[in-house]
Amino acid sequence: MWKGATTSMAEQSHRLSIMRSFYTALIGLTFIFHTDGVPWTEEKLRHSALTLSEDEIRAALSHTNLEQMWQRDLRPLLVTRYPGSAGSLAVQNHIKTTLASLEAGWEVTEDSFQSQTPYGPLPFTNLVATLNPSARRHLVLACHYDSKYYPPQWHGREFQGATDSAVPCAMMLELARALDEELKTQKNSSSNLTLQLIFFDGEEALFQWTATDSLYGSRHLAEKMEATPHPKGAKDTNQLHGIDLFVLLDLIGAPSPIFGNQFPSTTSWLSKLQDIEKRLHSMNQLVGHPNSVLYFWPDRPVGHILDDHIPFLHRGVKILHLIPYPFPAVWHTFDDNEENLDRPTIENLNKILQIFVLEYLNIRPSIPSNSQNAP
Ligand SMILES: [Zn+2]
Repeated sequence: MWKGATTSMAEQSHRLSIMRSFYTALIGLTFIFHTDGVPWTEEKLRHSALTLSEDEIRAALSHTNLEQMWQRDLRPLLVTRYPGSAGSLAVQNHIKTTLASLEAGWEVTEDSFQSQTPYGPLPFTNLVATLNPSARRHLVLACHYDSKYYPPQWHGREFQGATDSAVPCAMMLELARALDEELKTQKNSSSNLTLQLIFFDGEEALFQWTATDSLYGSRHLAEKMEATPHPKGAKDTNQLHGIDLFVLLDLIGAPSPIFGNQFPSTTSWLSKLQDIEKRLHSMNQLVGHPNSVLYFWPDRPVGHILDDHIPFLHRGVKILHLIPYPFPAVWHTFDDNEENLDRPTIENLNKILQIFVLEYLNIRPSIPSNSQNAP
């Protein structure tokens, strides 16, 4: 009986193992089909970025040019540009004409509205530039272009807001210009992923920071994007679902910035930036950069900082907040000006950000055919 039972158990166990193999194969097949059938809103959760080769990195960085960025992109931004000012309009035009001059063909939309402020109603305009409007998923780079308002009686000097946030906006324009060719090629591919640049108005409090006197532009745009079906005509998805990752740049341009980690959910992308910093360092691509890591510290926790990402964070968007902590010493003083900017830091961060965008968007720059023979 026991023996017979044992034989029968052996047979059963054999049958079980056949069934197990069958189910394993079935689960494997289901996984393949399931991967193909993943809802597009979940593709961002399993997105994998490229790692470019050294030749590809050198090719990618051959168009970035700090001097050109300074003259073309940054200088026109270094004016008084609080909401509704003449400088604000000039800066909006500067951003629009710069993007319009590029080959890639950016679609720029304006989000204009009026809001009550401590100084009465004022006009605000956010600018949203999308590389390929038919792609569902967007890697977003964002900055604020308004400068903090100082009443006339405080004016001994003009408040330039160079790090806050003329430089971050100029870095985004420089990125679009330097990677124009690569972005144009990617736009014409069948990729469902694209780049979006957001230039916010009204980040600064006009009088004193409160929930209603701050973040005018980002509060308005986050609400509007949540109410806008995406893709067009969708019933249960909106433009916020289309944001893979919201990368906010702020207070950049002073020497020795340290970018710590505010959001565990995007640690892998901060680690990616650190990894790029290490790779560019080892290739001698970074200026005045004595150690392999100076800027990006995914292991260094930082408390939450109030900024334009907040209205998006509260609606479930994944955030990478590139703001140094501690803040630059010149923050909200009249010394936040062109003379106090640190050129090597800006050049290095331009390069790191440009490689990050290419790797995230899975863009391989083409390597010039004669590069193997180059001395
Ligand atoms: Zn500020």
